[in-house]
Amino acid sequence: MRYLPRYLMLITLVLILLTTSAAEVFAAQKIKVVTTLTFLEDFVKNVGGNRVEVKSLLTGLESEHTYTPKPSDIASVREARVLVKIGLGLEIWVDSLIKNASNNNLTVVTTSTGIPLLRSEERDSHDHDERSAGNPHIWLDPERAKVMIRHITDALIKIDPAGRKVYLVNQSEYFKKIDTMRINIEKKLRAVPNRKIITHHPAWPYFAQRFKLQIADNIQTQVGSEPSAKHVAALINKIRQENIRVIVSEPQLNPKIPKAISEETKAKLIVLTPVPGGLPGTGTYIDMMEYNGEQLATGLK
Ligand SMILES: [Zn+2]
Repeated sequence: MRYLPRYLMLITLVLILLTTSAAEVFAAQKIKVVTTLTFLEDFVKNVGGNRVEVKSLLTGLESEHTYTPKPSDIASVREARVLVKIGLGLEIWVDSLIKNASNNNLTVVTTSTGIPLLRSEERDSHDHDERSAGNPHIWLDPERAKVMIRHITDALIKIDPAGRKVYLVNQSEYFKKIDTMRINIEKKLRAVPNRKIITHHPAWPYFAQRFKLQIADNIQTQVGSEPSAKHVAALINKIRQENIRVIVSEPQLNPKIPKAISEETKAKLIVLTPVPGGLPGTGTYIDMMEYNGEQLATGLK
């Protein structure tokens, strides 16, 4: 009789020990990844599966250009094994963040490496720093996005060679989904007769090139600054003269001027998001791309 409770206690103790150590080992095996932007988080999730634990610093509601890191961001980078960014000077805030985190174990993956760039649309830029090298919004072209994903896959394989096969299979499955998304958007936009749009900030040249749209102009000619009255007047003229029917605004930016131009010209105002999470139904990269394609197809009809 007196052996039974002891026996049960022992079993309980062994079970607790087993589950704890199993959970600890499992957690220890996951590669901690921090990304600057939400689609990078999505890319890492798709390739890394349950071998990674990934977190984006931005949520999709902030502008990628004017973000100010929080103290918790430094902590995240300090604990991470990998940091994934675009590069090209897009995340102007990230270098000091990495420096402040002083994490010697951190691998930084620059996903823009080797990607052919389109010229930046910023007109009033006098400096020839990294930012003027080319437009950084490369992920809005699904084919360029694949190159970015390959950089992530390569980095994960280097850090975790045992996961090589898993990463490569995951990548190839994800590429198939991206191809389907690209074909869906091509189909939606193929028959659109008027392909000219005015965009809010110069985020869309790669998207436009891939899906054969024409960006007539941007409302913001310089990132993070409102347009001059002169530029707004020129836009209104252009919209009327060239029969432009769609103006694109973005949830991360102030909608006031796109709205005013739309009201003045009767051009339709549509809202697109260049990063996942900016609008309902745009939680993943693929959902965001499909959403933007759908909005454009409807708007340009
Ligand atoms: Zn941007």
